[in-house]
Amino acid sequence: MSPHPPGTGPAWRNWSGTAASAPRAVRTPTGTADVVAAVRAAAERGGTVKMVGTGHSFTAISAPEDLMLRPDRLSGVVDVDRSAMTVTALAGTPLHRFNADLERLGLSLHNMGDIAEQTLAGATSTGTHGTGGVAASLSAQVSGLELVTGDGTVLWADRDTEPEVFAAARLGLGALGILTRLRFDVEPLGVLEAHERPMRWADALAAYDDLTAGHHHTDLYWFPHTDAVLVKTDDRLDLEPGEAEPLGRLRRWVDDELVANTAFGALNAVGNRAPGLVPRFNRLAGRLLSERRYSDVPHRVFTSPRRVRFKEMEYAVPRADGLAVLAEVRRLVERNDWRIGFPVEVRHTPADDLVLGTSSGRESMYLAFHVNAAADHRDYFGQVERVLVAAGGRPHWGKLHSRTASDLAAAYPRWAEFASVRDRLDPQRVFDNDHLRRVLG
Ligand SMILES: Cc1cc2nc3c(=O)[nH]c(=O)nc-3n(C[C@H](O)[C@H](O)[C@H](O)COP(=O)(O)OP(=O)(O)OC[C@H]3O[C@@H](n4cnc5c(N)ncnc54)[C@H](O)[C@@H]3O)c2cc1C
Repeated sequence: MSPHPPGTGPAWRNWSGTAASAPRAVRTPTGTADVVAAVRAAAERGGTVKMVGTGHSFTAISAPEDLMLRPDRLSGVVDVDRSAMTVTALAGTPLHRFNADLERLGLSLHNMGDIAEQTLAGATSTGTHGTGGVAASLSAQVSGLELVTGDGTVLWADRDTEPEVFAAARLGLGALGILTRLRFDVEPLGVLEAHERPMRWADALAAYDDLTAGHHHTDLYWFPHTDAVLVKTDDRLDLEPGEAEPLGRLRRWVDDELVANTAFGALNAVGNRAPGLVPRFNRLAGRLLSERRYSDVPHRVFTSPRRVRFKEMEYAVPRADGLAVLAEVRRLVERNDWRIGFPVEVRHTPADDLVLGTSSGRESMYLAFHVNAAADHRDYFGQVERVLVAAGGRPHWGKLHSRTASDLAAAYPRWAEFASVRDRLDPQRVFDNDHLRRVLG
């Protein structure tokens, strides 16, 4: 384990710049034994220890206060079981590396979110999700895990061994222990076809149920202050990966880098300084939306680079109420003088069986709200959040929200189950930080 002496470690800061901390010491474990030693030492001193991911959570959920462990040397695939169709990787593996390794093996995850920068442990610990499919979150695709608990014990958990730990720790918020290995269910590498097309607000909402029923994955982006909606559907094709028709390198660069990042970032920066221009920019963006189709291996269809820094709040509301909630949010935006330069993203997920899953026990619609990292989000997020809470919404565990343990408990029927696993695995709260005290008590 490579140490930084006390006080000389770098300060920790998240991707969006919304959270920072100054850990007392930083270590980079190279295996489970190093993690065990770090946890035991912290427990003996009465301190805390936090393994961070890549800091892509918008909250201080991974903020280390005492000993920070870096994930960098816990990376790579360690086991492939083709008969069970599972692949096990070290918990600090970045998702993009895992995707590339799976592609080389002719395998793929079933579903994922829209970037691939996060670590496997970080992404699963907050319930990172995509849209549609038979499982939407990465946590729901975990079939086994290795965890170092608060006294340094190494536990393996899956559906048969330690089932209570398995049910809670697939989405454990970093509160139950330090994950060292994660086993994922995988599927043969296939081809997804993406179809993006502009629609008007009323048409998109009217078509939404048919779109989600008729396509494997559906994503919808509404541009505030306009009627413009971009719909993206992804469908599995009966093709070999070599038969896919991906975007050419130039088109991909123009669309993903120039338009989605460089030009969008420049417009966003102008909009920040002159908010009055934002509705005009959104109308322009709405007019420039064009239809495109391409096919590729799943991870290149699901994910793309996001270089414009932003802040985000996302809630899961019951699927059946989702469109009405979205329409209410639109009315709220129109009643206020906010200038929202980022589209509102709408995704949907099947119910899952994760104890603290935002889709636990219910089919959900996810509504995600963004502002530039430099903009003031408080009034927009605060007022929208009241609508989402009234609709029985559950906040994404890695994104901004104002909820605390006392009101979150009522939103999760299995809250006590998580609390009891936490009391068993970390009675001394070796894995605590301020954020966890706020959201878990
Ligand atoms: C640009 C951008 C796009 C995003 N897109 C999506 C999306 O499409 N869908 C979605 O759902 N979310 C999305 N997110 C949110 C993001 O996926 C989550 O916040 C995720 O948790 C970040 O992973 P990370 O590796 O950065 O972990 P961090 O944010 O660093 O940590 C997250 C949690 O994981 C815990 N943790 C990390 N490593 C371990 C370990 N080894 N053992 C135990 N606990 C651990 C930390 O303690 C913390 O509780 C996005 C975020 C950004 C910034």
